[in-house]
Amino acid sequence: MWDLRLNEEQTALVDMIRRFTKEEVIPVAAELDEKSEFPLDVCKKAWDLGFMNSKVPAEYGGLGLGVFESVLISEELSYGCVGVATTVLANNLAATPLVLAGTEAQKEKYLGQLVNEYCFASYATSEPGAGSDVVGIRTKYEKQGDDYLINGSKAWITNGGHAKWYLIFATSDAKLRHKGLTAFVVPRDLEGVSVGKKENKLGVRCSDTSTIHFDNVRLTKDHLVGEEGDGFKLAMRTFDRTRPDIGGFASGLMRRAIDECVAYANERKAFGVTIGQHQAIQFMIADMGIKHEATRLLTYTAAKILDGGQQASIYSSYAKAFGADAAMQVATDAVQVFGGYGYTKEYPVEKLMRDAKLLQIYEGTSQVQRMVIARHMLSR
Ligand SMILES: Cc1cc2nc3c(=O)[nH]c(=O)nc-3n(C[C@H](O)[C@H](O)[C@H](O)COP(=O)(O)OP(=O)(O)OC[C@H]3O[C@@H](n4cnc5c(N)ncnc54)[C@H](O)[C@@H]3O)c2cc1C
Repeated sequence: MWDLRLNEEQTALVDMIRRFTKEEVIPVAAELDEKSEFPLDVCKKAWDLGFMNSKVPAEYGGLGLGVFESVLISEELSYGCVGVATTVLANNLAATPLVLAGTEAQKEKYLGQLVNEYCFASYATSEPGAGSDVVGIRTKYEKQGDDYLINGSKAWITNGGHAKWYLIFATSDAKLRHKGLTAFVVPRDLEGVSVGKKENKLGVRCSDTSTIHFDNVRLTKDHLVGEEGDGFKLAMRTFDRTRPDIGGFASGLMRRAIDECVAYANERKAFGVTIGQHQAIQFMIADMGIKHEATRLLTYTAAKILDGGQQASIYSSYAKAFGADAAMQVATDAVQVFGGYGYTKEYPVEKLMRDAKLLQIYEGTSQVQRMVIARHMLSR
């Protein structure tokens, strides 16, 4: 099995991000959430420390860290705020298809830009009419000589309003389904690219989620990522490598819920004793511990398999599905442990509950993860 112990560098990384979360994220999280304010200053500090682009290979100026380290970063940041964690980690998501299939020139240009200049990039598969069903993408590309003309809209795009470039997926012909999909890198400043509506969300409110429109955007071969028709495979390979981060978000959120609940349960009194002495509360807290540890094990395992160079779709989906569902249950129970106070903004657990819900939706819903898992199991 996998050795899940942290080495010296990983321990130092965790210490650094834990300190960062305590000093830079937790003090501002509630206000950013309340105002739905993009965490520009917090991310600048994360960018200065290099971990906004942790998966960008060292030869292009990034930290060149693996999936395992990315999960460690995810866990620590989401302890403070899943919105900040989502914003910080989105560059890695956008960069992954380029790392996997980009040309040398593309890597130097676009990955280089992320590390040389404080900026954001977005990954865009989803559309108003195609989320879970990636092959239902309608954003169209049309070949015109050596050029590609892009038309369509992408919805729910994390950091969409702030991105310098978008890694998008478009189809040459919707009837070709997955065989028609191709990836392109689209600089934001090209003519025809525009940012539309910003979503007003239940949770993860400081993260920017926007619609992006492409109106006769002219691209060249330099913008094509991988081969034409390979987009679906590339999108799925990307998700395999990024879904463990959502397991990391879930784990960090649960650890925060547990810490808040333990402190409250040892202090709040009901019926003459602290509520932590009531077995009903004890069992909820015990279940939180079980779910948190199980999520960590699944997530670390998926990351280790990927860093070992092996295929890990099913493990990434185990981590994502279990972690997201567990985080939702844990956060809901955390509100219960706090009673009426848990339902107010006086304590952070109501935010944990709102934030946890997203983990079951983005990067493939909990149902989609089960489809992936079942497909792998039934084809063994
Ligand atoms: C805050 C936020 C940030 C996001 N960031 C990004 C981003 O950066 N880039 C990006 O590309 N996308 C992003 N998304 C989009 C996200 O990935 C999609 O919302 C998600 O994949 C679900 O798609 P949908 O919303 O269209 O729901 P639908 O696909 O319409 O699904 C609706 C419901 O039906 C279920 N369902 C659908 N098909 C099946 C099936 N075959 N079997 C069983 N159940 C099914 C789903 O699980 C879900 O419960 C983001 C979304 C949010 C909310």
